[in-house]
Amino acid sequence: MLIVEVLFFTGDPAKNDLIGIAKFLALHAALLMMLQLLLVARLPWLDTWIGTDRLTAWHRWTGFALFWAVVLHASFILVGYARLADISVFAQIDVFLGVFPTLLGMLAVSLIVIVVALSVRFARRRMSYELWHAIHVVLYVAVTLAVLHQLYEGSTFRANALTTAYWWGMWGLVIVSLLHGRVVTPLLRNARHKLRVAAVVPESHNVTSVYVTGRDLAALEARAGQFFIWRFLTRGRWWQANPFSISSTPDGEVLRLTARAVGGTSAGLRDLPVGARVFVEGPYGAFTTLHRTRDATLLIAGGVGITPIRSLLGELDGPVTVLYRVPTEADAVLLGELEHYVTNAGVTLHLLTGRTGSGLPPNLPFAPANLTALVPDIRERDVYVCGPPAMTGSVLTALKEVGVPKRQVHAERFALAGD
Ligand SMILES: Cc1cc2nc3c(=O)[nH]c(=O)nc-3n(C[C@H](O)[C@H](O)[C@H](O)COP(=O)(O)OP(=O)(O)OC[C@H]3O[C@@H](n4cnc5c(N)ncnc54)[C@H](O)[C@@H]3O)c2cc1C
Repeated sequence: MLIVEVLFFTGDPAKNDLIGIAKFLALHAALLMMLQLLLVARLPWLDTWIGTDRLTAWHRWTGFALFWAVVLHASFILVGYARLADISVFAQIDVFLGVFPTLLGMLAVSLIVIVVALSVRFARRRMSYELWHAIHVVLYVAVTLAVLHQLYEGSTFRANALTTAYWWGMWGLVIVSLLHGRVVTPLLRNARHKLRVAAVVPESHNVTSVYVTGRDLAALEARAGQFFIWRFLTRGRWWQANPFSISSTPDGEVLRLTARAVGGTSAGLRDLPVGARVFVEGPYGAFTTLHRTRDATLLIAGGVGITPIRSLLGELDGPVTVLYRVPTEADAVLLGELEHYVTNAGVTLHLLTGRTGSGLPPNLPFAPANLTALVPDIRERDVYVCGPPAMTGSVLTALKEVGVPKRQVHAERFALAGD
């Protein structure tokens, strides 16, 4: 960004101040577009270190910044050129519509405005995930139009061969990263591993586990706590891709997901035929032991948030305590497996049941006092939290109050950008 700014300020002056501001905004809009694409490129190293949830949250905010940059760029360029030609803004729009490169830019801005408008929470909540995702794919058309617009119009980076190479080098890097992370890697991985459903096991009335096997699974290098985006290639399902954590400790032989039925896809998992082909993207996520800073660990799960926690259990050494929040013991899926670790690995397990706030004293399992009573050395532990957003939020607040340093706290939210 600094290099681009130096190029801008040392380049030829704009025809007037408004056009100058518009050009400055255009350069930053293009940089934001590149950043935006990198954030969703799902580059394995970036994802493992930063985490998909954080990357998609940044993607969301970058999206809004990009929106304002392109809207302001278009407005300043319009008013700037209208003033230069001493005509009205409407007459200037008419002129621009007849100029092919500008028309491309106008189309790109229109698409970006529509997609961002549909991405605000109010609109997002009123449409299915699949529709929201399909609308988002339109942005690739907008990016293509915007790149063509830059190819014809961009002047700052045409100062000399070096600046041109720098600019298009950056674009090249971004596009190659995107194709590598989103297309080439998933295609190669699935061609190599040939995943299939090995078994479907009901865990409770509304929770199902799916076991998946394939060739040379160790080479996937999946870590406990990570997730895949799963696509089951059966009739009526192949177009749905949903994220589910790995609920077993990866052993190079079998991968397992465990899902609660909340909608069409998750409820339909129970009917998956054994042998069905599976296409995955991943493994993704930074909710892993790579980020551990202490010997002792506290794992906190709420409901089906137990899946990555169960997975982590098999990879941890040192003292481990698990707090598992469920309405009743009958809702505690995978409990038998947790008890195995209690008996064989010295893990401490507290099942936290009952309605929050009920009884006297009120049942407040994640109140700071209760957390320190259950885990007196909590400040000396890494804490991994996975549960519904409200529970995760209150646990994170309590951990802050208790004084657990931020770098020791790791959270996985079962939500990506837009949720
Ligand atoms: C990183 C991550 C890990 C997860 N791990 C688990 C797990 O181990 N077990 C489990 O039960 N649930 C998990 N979830 C939640 C799970 O992805 C959703 O419950 C599931 O996708 C719902 O899909 P549906 O079609 O059944 O329901 P729908 O009614 O279609 O969707 C319900 C909600 O789920 C979310 N959702 C739906 N489809 C997708 C998608 N393709 N990508 C992202 N979000 C989507 C949206 O917020 C949507 O509003 C995880 C989510 C994330 C982001």
